[in-house]
Amino acid sequence: MKIFANVILPIPVERLFTYSLTAEEASSLAPGFRVAVPFGKSKIYTALVYEIHNNPPQAYEAKPIHDILDSTAVVTNTQIKHWLWISEYYMCSLGEVFRAAIPKTFILESETSIQLTSLENLEESVLPDDDFLVVEALRHQPTLLVEDIINIVDKKNIFPILNRLLKLGIIHVQEEIKELYKPKMEKYVQLSEDYEEDDKLEDLLRSLARAPKQSQAVLMLFQLEGSTKKPVKFADLEKEGNLSRAVIKSLLKKGVFKEYSVQRDRIEYKGSKELSALKTLNDDQNRALLEIKQQFKDKPVVLLKGVTSSGKTEIYVELIASCIAKKQQALYLVPEIAITTQLIRRLEEYFGPKIAVFHSKYNLQEKAEIWKNVLYNSDKAQIILGARSSIFLPFKNLGLIIIDEEHEVSFKQFDPAPRYHARDSAIVLGNLFNSKILLGSATPSIESYHNVLQGKYGYAQIDRRYGNVLLPEMELVDIQEQRKKKRMQGHFSERLRLEIEASLAEKSQIILFQNRRGFAPILECNFCGHSPQCINCDVSLTFHRNRSQLRCHYCSYHISLPVSCPACGSKDLDTKGFGTEQVEQELISMYPEAKVGRMDYDTTRGKHAYAKIIEAFEAQELDILVGTQMLTKGLDFRNVTLVGIMNADSLLNFPDFRAHERTFQMLTQVSGRAGRTKKRGKVIIQTYNPYHQILKQVTTGDFEGMFKEQLYERSQFKYPPYNRIIRLTFKHKDYNKLNEASLWFSQALRNLLAAEVLGPEYPAISRIRNQYIKHLLIKIPKKVPLVQTKKNIKRIQNSFDAISQYRSVRVIYNVDYF
Ligand code: ADP
Ligand code: ZN
Ligand code: ZN
Repeated sequence: MKIFANVILPIPVERLFTYSLTAEEASSLAPGFRVAVPFGKSKIYTALVYEIHNNPPQAYEAKPIHDILDSTAVVTNTQIKHWLWISEYYMCSLGEVFRAAIPKTFILESETSIQLTSLENLEESVLPDDDFLVVEALRHQPTLLVEDIINIVDKKNIFPILNRLLKLGIIHVQEEIKELYKPKMEKYVQLSEDYEEDDKLEDLLRSLARAPKQSQAVLMLFQLEGSTKKPVKFADLEKEGNLSRAVIKSLLKKGVFKEYSVQRDRIEYKGSKELSALKTLNDDQNRALLEIKQQFKDKPVVLLKGVTSSGKTEIYVELIASCIAKKQQALYLVPEIAITTQLIRRLEEYFGPKIAVFHSKYNLQEKAEIWKNVLYNSDKAQIILGARSSIFLPFKNLGLIIIDEEHEVSFKQFDPAPRYHARDSAIVLGNLFNSKILLGSATPSIESYHNVLQGKYGYAQIDRRYGNVLLPEMELVDIQEQRKKKRMQGHFSERLRLEIEASLAEKSQIILFQNRRGFAPILECNFCGHSPQCINCDVSLTFHRNRSQLRCHYCSYHISLPVSCPACGSKDLDTKGFGTEQVEQELISMYPEAKVGRMDYDTTRGKHAYAKIIEAFEAQELDILVGTQMLTKGLDFRNVTLVGIMNADSLLNFPDFRAHERTFQMLTQVSGRAGRTKKRGKVIIQTYNPYHQILKQVTTGDFEGMFKEQLYERSQFKYPPYNRIIRLTFKHKDYNKLNEASLWFSQALRNLLAAEVLGPEYPAISRIRNQYIKHLLIKIPKKVPLVQTKKNIKRIQNSFDAISQYRSVRVIYNVDYF
């Protein structure tokens, strides 16, 4: 009987592909193994075995697989189940989930390299520009990879170029597969066996009498080995002995030392201190913990609503400790791992090397190592702390999932597919393992709190800050009125300035929040009103004063700052609106003696950039920290007494049904950074709308009021949690084609679905990177079956794809759109 394997390919196609296996291959394969398979004309892909069976494919002849890449499965059955759910729920292919889930190093890249063959018959004048560029590059470099060529011609699709050059016989294309994961080896040094006996050793030292450095090296090696003969690293010997590399090398050459290598983890727990005991919980925390445990008895998911600084983290720590005591793994999800240096430090104090951090800024090798540690349930990965993608790790025995700041938007992946919500996907994952799932937040999402009231989730609450510190005092400042009275200086009201001065005087620290980076979002000519726009996108360029540039925040387009108006030549240019850079500048000129730092996308690109800013602020090397919403996420500074919101209106006016909820969350969270220790903090919110309902609710901490109102609006306008929403985005560079195609799609949807369809509409920014964009929103009532609706939408997609002139229009699904 013939044997076949259905495999998942890491590409956006809906189906699985079938390959044939020999009996021998089949005996050493199972679901979760990687295989190399031929695909298309000459591509080799890494695929994942999904199932093994005896049914030949109907539509094509199964090709044999190329190679088996693993000796044990690298993906577990539970993971595949989880991926299936994600792909069905979020309407993407299993291949896309596979690609997102697995470390890139596990997908052998089929690296196509291109070489020149002969230029004999080449008439350069007939080559199109792009082809000429490629040939030129190949004259200087014998081999180019596909990726290099994409960069040289600055185009994504280079296959037409390659085809032309192939036809002319100018180039030669070669496929190469390479395994990207290389274990990191560490070099060790030991004394050669020849010198192990005492008298031999004496001889040796005598012979080295005239080489004092070398004898010093030998003695140092003994010292480091100690009586227990500990292995000694080359690097340690070099460092501890204060020796040059050459000295050790010459001893190696003489055969006195021997060198050997050991594979080791790239990320190693650095601390060697004694672990700290867990903190003793206070009454509020104990009560909440008891409540959570009680609720877990019959509900897998519990929401903990605790005000900022109520000590939620210590409750998580207790739960984690009991989870790992049962030899189960724990997953601790945070919205943004890069800014959790404080949390990592805290957890390492309790759990030492048992905690592994899954960091988006880690390199591929480091990620691959964590994967293996989790897969083998190693002691080093009992607790995983990570951002959304850590739900894809190959857990073996997951007992607990903590989702901190569960309301955070960044748990939803926006681009590319799978556009999953990590909180919701984690709950599904937890259910596959029967684990306990705790959501935590000071400002829970409308959806989660609704689930509590519906009895779906359990609930526990803490209303007091740890140590009974009062929540900060909040004050709304009317910018309109301050302007009229000429009390504004730059973007600072008199109230804010007075508070800043008071804080500076008493040497406490200040956080200022402005949800926009750069200096000013718009540069405008005072004479003709022209403002420079991006050439690729439908947006004004943002003025970055530090770099003296105008930059687009949607693509990488930038120009140097014009001295005069590009339209009329007038030199009278002005800025509109303001970003963090401008706030920082104004502070520096108002308070030259204060030390000001800035934390936004522009200042935090490097691997350690966040940590450096946070540490500097913690060490009180900075008096004032200006930043964007990065500041809102769970930071715990001891000495901050003042938080200033520069302008609350830009948050409120965001065109989205979640804008009000989000404003409440963001302002409450950033306010929560103030007065976390003894002294009560102060928050100043500057706004043109001091009577806005949401701002009132923020200042009075009225979560219930906010929740009720927002819920009412959601029910009126048919948004979640009452309806499910799916947003379809259409993209194309041709304006007319996009209009026609999206209209066709919307009509088909309206005919077939028992759901409300809004649009197609242009969003506020209707063109990005030269692609026009239109949105359609589908609102599906709770009583309409979701699975069937999604199937119907896919059917429409299939008919859509069959229309040749629409085929090039991209359609993007965003289920539970955020
Ligand atoms: P949240 O996560 O609710 O904002 P944290 O867990 O960060 O609050 O706690 C706020 C501060 O209070 C932290 O500095 C923490 O170390 C301290 N803290 C919380 N609980 C305790 C406790 N039981 N004993 C001692 N300190 C605590
Ligand atoms: Zn002008
Ligand atoms: Zn742009």
